[in-house]
Formats: sequence, structure tokens, C-alpha cells
Amino acid sequence: MSEKLKDILSRFGEVDTDVPMSRLTTLHIGGNASYVVRPLSMVELDGLVKYLVHEGIPFKVFGKGSNLLCSDSEFHGVIISLEKGFCRHYFEEDMLVAEAGCSIIALAYDAMRNSLSGLEFASGIPGTVGGSIYMNAGAYKSSVSEVIDSVLVYRDGKFEWITAEECDFAYRTSIFQRHPLWVIIAARFHMVKEDQDMIRSLMDNRRERRLNTQPLDMPSAGSVFRNPMDMPAWKLIEGIGYRGRSIGDIAVSEKHVNFIVNKGNGTASDFIALTNEIQQKVKEKYDIDLHMEVEKFNWQ
Ligand SMILES: Cc1cc2nc3c(=O)[nH]c(=O)nc-3n(C[C@H](O)[C@H](O)[C@H](O)COP(=O)(O)OP(=O)(O)OC[C@H]3O[C@@H](n4cnc5c(N)ncnc54)[C@H](O)[C@@H]3O)c2cc1C
Repeated sequence: MSEKLKDILSRFGEVDTDVPMSRLTTLHIGGNASYVVRPLSMVELDGLVKYLVHEGIPFKVFGKGSNLLCSDSEFHGVIISLEKGFCRHYFEEDMLVAEAGCSIIALAYDAMRNSLSGLEFASGIPGTVGGSIYMNAGAYKSSVSEVIDSVLVYRDGKFEWITAEECDFAYRTSIFQRHPLWVIIAARFHMVKEDQDMIRSLMDNRRERRLNTQPLDMPSAGSVFRNPMDMPAWKLIEGIGYRGRSIGDIAVSEKHVNFIVNKGNGTASDFIALTNEIQQKVKEKYDIDLHMEVEKFNWQ
């Protein structure tokens, strides 16, 4: 960490130094990040990204870190968090306009209170607008791509609204995964007027289902593997007898075998050792390649 760089970065927002990434992720795993910067306006974000690109300083935007496996090593770069400066939303008739740092769960509940349907599927996904667009997050056969009208993106030094079509959404992917320097700033979601009690009851129902089937009382990053075409990932993991299997403090959840949980002092290297074992056994038994849905960050 350099005091001089810290001073420069503080032009562009609030700065913290030597921040454990375990505090920035829902898995509670990861070494220190040299700097976390929270820009509070588009002007600050513009200045920050231009400076980092010009100086060749690596950076990464974090949402709630609910889909990230950070390595145990230090990240010698800048994590940009939009949760403080980009967290407002409003409704414009049937349209929801939300900044990238908004919690998608909070939006789903506010939409429900406004009798607007469309985000019920997201009411248990613990991410931000930015992270859920980047991942095309989804559940119950619905996904963010179905409700996105357009996305405000910062790219090549400009802020531009792009259409849902341009986002090139597919299963758990979007154009943003191919452009690591782009920053999602906000989105417009098209919603549908619906009976509020119906929306609430659907959300309650799904909440109940998640509570019964997912280990929500333990740190995790949600489903670890993508579902292959032929069989859901959980069936394959169950099939190799890995329910409850652990390495150190990292364990396959007893409650949901496609969740891997941190029992307290889990490390990223143990997490990867366990996922490697699972991939290898699944390949041997079923000749299927399991791919990670959780994104690895700061690995060589
Ligand atoms: C208990 C639990 C349940 C879950 N259930 C589901 C589920 O049902 N369905 C599902 O799809 N996922 C699920 N997830 C995974 C995760 O919540 C989603 O993928 C979520 O969309 C990630 O959002 P985030 O804000 O936490 O993103 P992060 O994990 O912080 O980041 C993910 C990626 O998005 C990028 N990113 C974030 N914000 C921006 C931005 N503004 N601009 C550019 N890039 C950005 C990051 O750089 C990173 O590459 C679950 C996770 C947990 C812990």
C-alpha cells in the first residue's frame, strides 16, 4: 500500500486500504485487497477508471461478492464498490430504474409493494443489480435477462444506454463477462402490474423453499457448478457420494450438495481442492465436465 496512491485515489471517492476480501464476499474467504474505492458519483467513477486504466493498475468491480471465490493471496489493485454511491432506484409507471449497487432482493420487495411483478424469482438472490446483470442471475426458470429493458454502461470513457439485446444474455452469462473494463452503472427493468397479494404469496413461497433447501445459515457463494445439459449438478455430486465431504473447514453442504460452505476458517485453496476432486470424480463416473458457476478472482 502506498500513501501517495491512497491520496490520489481519495480524489475519486472513499478509500480503504488493506481490506480482507473475506469481508467483501459471502463465502468469507480471500486475502487482502490493497485498496477499496467507493465512488459517490459518475464524475468520480469516470475519473477513477480513467486513472486506473492510464496507470495500468488492475481493478475489479465488486457487488456483494456473492458469486466470488477470492484467492488467499493479496490483490495488488483496486476493488471498486458501487454499493454506497450507486444505490438509488425509482419507478416510472411500469418501469423500474435502479443503480448498479442496489440489492436485487430489496428491489424485488419494493416492486411487490408497488404491485409490480417481474422480480419475484430474484427475491432470494443476494446480489446487486450490477452482479446480477453480469451473471444473468436466475432462478425458477426465470432470469434477469427477461426483465431487462436496457443497461447504462460505462465503457471506453463514455456512459451509454445499451439494449437488452446488446447485452447478449444467455444461461448465467452476458456480454459484460467478455469486457472486464466495462462498468454497469444502472438498469431499466420492465415490470407488469399485478395483484400485490399474489406477488407477495409467490415470494413467500419461494423464500420458504430456499430456507428449506439451502444452507442459508452458513457462508457460501450459492450454487458452485453450472447445471450441465443432461443432469442437474446436484445429482452428479450426490452420485459420487460427496454429500457432507470436507477438506479443512470447507464442506459440501449436507442440505444442498451444489452448495459448498465455509464452516469457519475455510481457505480458497481448500475450496479449489474440493471442487477439483468433485470435477475429477464426476468425469470418471459420468464422463461429464462440471464447470464452475462461482467466479474465481485473483488466481494466477
Ligand atoms: C445463498 C446464495 C444463493 C444464491 N442463489 C442464486 C440464484 O438463485 N441464482 C443465481 O443466479 N445466483 C445465485 N447466487 C449467486 C449470486 O448471488 C449471483 O450470481 C449474484 O447475481 C451476484 O451478484 P453480486 O452483486 O454479489 O456480484 P459479485 O459476486 O460481487 O460479482 C460477480 C461478478 O459481477 C461483476 N460485477 C458486479 N457488479 C458489477 C458492475 N457494476 N459492473 C460490472 N461488473 C460487475 C463482478 O466484477 C464479478 O465478475 C446465490 C448466492 C448465494 C450466496
